[in-house]
Amino acid sequence: MTFRNLGIIDPILDALKAEGYEKPTPIQEQAIPVLLEGKDLLGCAQTGTGKTAAFTIPILQLLSAEKNRKVRAGSPRALVVTPTRELAIQIGESFSNYGKFTGITNTVIFGGVKQGNQTRILKEGVDVLIATPGRLLDLMNQGYVTLSNVGWSVLDEADRMLDMGFIHDVRKIIAKLPPKRQSLFFSATMPPEIVELSKKILGNPARVTIQPEMTTAEKVKQSICYVEKADKPALLTHVLRENNDRATLVFTRTKHGADKITRFLKKAGITSNAIHGNKSQTARQIALENIKKGYTKVLIATDIAARGIDIDDLQLVINYDLPNIAETYVHRIGRTGRAGADGQAISFCDKEERAYLKDIHKLIKQTIPEVRFSFITEKPSNEPAANRKAQDSSKILREVLPPALKHHVKPGKPGRQGKIPEHLQTRLSVGKSEIKELEQKGQGSQPKRIIRLKRK
Ligand code: AMP
Repeated sequence: MTFRNLGIIDPILDALKAEGYEKPTPIQEQAIPVLLEGKDLLGCAQTGTGKTAAFTIPILQLLSAEKNRKVRAGSPRALVVTPTRELAIQIGESFSNYGKFTGITNTVIFGGVKQGNQTRILKEGVDVLIATPGRLLDLMNQGYVTLSNVGWSVLDEADRMLDMGFIHDVRKIIAKLPPKRQSLFFSATMPPEIVELSKKILGNPARVTIQPEMTTAEKVKQSICYVEKADKPALLTHVLRENNDRATLVFTRTKHGADKITRFLKKAGITSNAIHGNKSQTARQIALENIKKGYTKVLIATDIAARGIDIDDLQLVINYDLPNIAETYVHRIGRTGRAGADGQAISFCDKEERAYLKDIHKLIKQTIPEVRFSFITEKPSNEPAANRKAQDSSKILREVLPPALKHHVKPGKPGRQGKIPEHLQTRLSVGKSEIKELEQKGQGSQPKRIIRLKRK
């Protein structure tokens, strides 16, 4: 199947070629003909399936086929409502990219920034408006936008809207849409409230449900690493060093946690950027550009900030914290392995997070395989410098390390890498089998030690 076979017009075909899209993804293959026929669509699709192009391309085509198309101030012909500003910007980019030879105009509006630029463009008039719910309602109430002329409406990531508490705003927006329109509704999951909402929006009974060919959970190579909470920083540092050539997205549950990670990574010599709700729009955009262009390899994000992030070559997702909502796990790992590419997801799980993991296993209907890393951490000392005694780390390591790890140890010169002050000896994290081995040697009862190792 090709885009030409789907009946796509030349100006859009040329743009898709410029994007490097050779053939439609399964969701595009199914959705585009239905939408070009003018039918409503219920898209039950995970992120990464190519769903944005699946609705952007036919809307562009239908808009450009409109006779006497007139752009009116504050009165778009097509409306896309989406939960986050990042997602809104990306959808805007899709309309601009795929529609660059059609003359169809678009603009994006979202909160958290001054409205002046947005209202100026709205006054000039655009064909397509992409908006987050709060700012859209705000500008509607101020009289800058009217929906009376909307012929196409798209509700994207409906389940996220529900999670983020936007559902009331969305209902108010829907109430203002004209009854005669083509409606598109996308959601990765279909909880009862979302089914209810979709019934309200999708007036035309000839609707289609699209399931992705392969679920994200099947596509992404997943692993779980059981770890003590206190050892997570060292584990993250270790995994990032092992994967230093891969674009990596690290998820944390809190904004504070995201900032903390950037700080300890900085100390470990790893550059990263964080994006979360407290960061300015500019800071978020810079962070995204940095990783997209490969200037930085590591982006730390909270769930809300990461929603809609589209980094084509994102190879690794790390769940520094496990999410307490299992669906969020699927959304997170869906950031890698996009549009058929291979992706990998490593999740850290401490004792308190075991219950979350159980929910995730239930949802994805599989048990995530365990992965183990041998990594080393240091603890800062409170002892005065004068009391610190140097010890030969290689000697200590030879005592405590299992044979499989001994080759890591290189004797060093006193006071240099190989000499570890006593205060730095804390715990050595090793897997179960290694601990057993240490116990057999009568060393299991000793406090486990962590010693600074030379990197391989
Ligand atoms: P989405 O599910 O809309 O977030 O899209 C996921 C990614 O797939 C985006 O980076 C798109 O640029 C890319 N994409 C969408 N359609 C195609 C296609 N037909 N061929 C190759 N890549 C695509």
